[in-house]
Amino acid sequence: MSVRKIPERTVVTCDRCGVECSNGLGPGRRRMNGRLIVKAHSLDMVGDPVADGSFERDFCDACMSLVLDALREALRDSDE
Ligand SMILES: [Zn+2]
Repeated sequence: MSVRKIPERTVVTCDRCGVECSNGLGPGRRRMNGRLIVKAHSLDMVGDPVADGSFERDFCDACMSLVLDALREALRDSDE
């Protein structure tokens, strides 16, 4: 009898482009370990909070760069 140990491996899939992430070069590179966390209430039709609308998304480096660019653009006026 022989025993072969297989180390545990965590696979992250980008929530934007769907690529399986890795720390290597090329598509799916995920050295930034990018994650967007939004905490907010969901509102009903008259604007009252009715539920937790929070969410989290994991991104590869290419998609995280797009998300960061979009956030910078959306928050541009508030930085000045
Ligand atoms: Zn991606």
